[in-house]
Amino acid sequence: MTARRIATIGATSTALMSAFAAIAQAPTEIDPTLTEVWKPVPPIVTPGAGTAAPSDAVVLFDGKDLSAWESVASGPAKWRVESEAFTVVKGTGDIRTKRAFGDSQLHIEWRAPAKIEGEGQGRGNSGVYLQGRYEVQVMDSYNNATYANGQAASIYKQYIPLVNASRKPGEWQTYDIYFRAPHFAADGTLTQPAYMTVVHNGVLVQDHAEIKGGTVYRGAPSYAKHNAKEPLVLQDHESPVSYRNIWIREL
Ligand code: MG
Repeated sequence: MTARRIATIGATSTALMSAFAAIAQAPTEIDPTLTEVWKPVPPIVTPGAGTAAPSDAVVLFDGKDLSAWESVASGPAKWRVESEAFTVVKGTGDIRTKRAFGDSQLHIEWRAPAKIEGEGQGRGNSGVYLQGRYEVQVMDSYNNATYANGQAASIYKQYIPLVNASRKPGEWQTYDIYFRAPHFAADGTLTQPAYMTVVHNGVLVQDHAEIKGGTVYRGAPSYAKHNAKEPLVLQDHESPVSYRNIWIREL
């Protein structure tokens, strides 16, 4: 054995001996059960297989009909249901859930048309509006340049996605959105902004983004007082974008 090898072993055993000495001096007299918390017991939720809804979710589309939705303008939702999905029918307007939601976890799957038409904001444009106001952009952003704070998975005109995790047009994509609703005082003053975390196709794209107000196309966003719970809205931006497997958990 070389002198250097012997020196290395010597240094290692010295380090180990001082580590053991530190453990021997640890406060072992403290009862470990003092830091155990037994209540409350978390409720049991049965997870879904893959991206299927967990047992405590509200299913907003199960592949069959738009009974959980209505037209924002008035009357029933007029988008087309087929092949376990539904598709924007250009010109029929935005649709919203009949139920309203506050803090929530949303799973939604969407698909931009396989046939590429238009460019920039004109290509595969739709949108998921939390509480009907705060838009996560839906868009075909696969090899499609536009302003970065308006591409897929942007919080429209507020936050650029951390990365572009887009799949090709015609392929199904997922958004998992974790939303904290804003709070308002009785006089309408904002007391706590909304926050959003967004995962696109399993990739983190928005990390606890502090929402600056309702989504606007022109100018700066601002808050206007609204109910603690508001419907989820999907945008008709005249592109035949499809959706499927939509569920939401109230937090
Ligand atoms: Mg949009």
